[in-house]
Amino acid sequence: GSKSRFDPEALSRGVLDGNPAMLGRAITLIESNAKRDQEPARELISRLLPHSGKAIRIGITGVPGAGKSTFIEAFGCYLCERGLKVAVLAIDPSSSLSKGSVMGDKTRMEVLSGHENAFIRPSPSAGTLGGVARKSRETMIACEAAGYDVILVETVGVGQSETTVRSMVDIFFLLLITGAGDDLQGIKRGIMELADLLIVTKDDGDNHQRALAHQQELKMVLHYLQSPTPGWTPEVLTCSSLEGRGLDAIEHMLMDFRTKQQKNGQWYERRRRQSLDWVQALVHEALLHAFAQHPDVASHLPDLENKVACGKLDPVSAAHQLLSHFTYPVKGE
Ligand code: GDP
Repeated sequence: GSKSRFDPEALSRGVLDGNPAMLGRAITLIESNAKRDQEPARELISRLLPHSGKAIRIGITGVPGAGKSTFIEAFGCYLCERGLKVAVLAIDPSSSLSKGSVMGDKTRMEVLSGHENAFIRPSPSAGTLGGVARKSRETMIACEAAGYDVILVETVGVGQSETTVRSMVDIFFLLLITGAGDDLQGIKRGIMELADLLIVTKDDGDNHQRALAHQQELKMVLHYLQSPTPGWTPEVLTCSSLEGRGLDAIEHMLMDFRTKQQKNGQWYERRRRQSLDWVQALVHEALLHAFAQHPDVASHLPDLENKVACGKLDPVSAAHQLLSHFTYPVKGE
């Protein structure tokens, strides 16, 4: 194949200098699906990894309309004003960071994106969740190497992406709305059990009393749920992103979480586990990709599927036959 147009050595220097344009370009390399870019992308990550790991990695989820992008804008600005460097990533194409372009909506996170301490990267628009997740991990590493102190990873409440994001962050926020349209049934228990901090959004104006009532309700519910983090009891806070109220309490809880978790060792333990998960995820992804691309597998697949569909062959034998055609590494690659 042709040669990659990226120079990992120069890119890593630019990223380590904290140059946002070079960081953007580095992420473009990370997100590239072109075969010729895979080796330089790996080299780039190897160069950046030793300089990563110092940031607080925060996952943020909630149903569409929960107020995620407004919250990220407000909380991101709040942290920037306090001198922190904040990077914002989105994990899937349906999340609100990319909604702007998809729905022709007005610019999202206008204030935050103009802040010199902020870096905002919308999600890669194509690819399987697995692929996007892999890239998001590496993008996070690049942001950390560039000196960002807080990484906000946004995901939308569709199930699998939550678990993926949970497996790459230190702390997970679930944003909930109160009042009409809000119902606990809409939030799957499984997602609540991933959260270290529940945040009732839009605690302002007429909504204030309802937000407080909802906070109490959620506190009760939490009693029956398991904490995702040993040594930490999940909490419920309220905030108004529009009025900037409650953001200080959220930051305070965030820092408290980090202090406690670093003290009892869970912080490092979680990251160790996440590194191992990362290895597994990369191996799974590479194998699945190689399997799907394998010429012998691909040539036998339609026939085997037909036979299974009309009952001429059982699924167990079909899977066995497909696997027997698979060799790795694929010849000629
Ligand atoms: P997302 O889909 O989760 O990203 O939600 P958005 O951030 O786009 O917010 C959905 C709607 O709720 C928008 O119309 C926001 O203006 C509104 N909203 C978000 N945060 C607040 C808040 O703190 N107070 C009030 N009153 N409205 C809010």
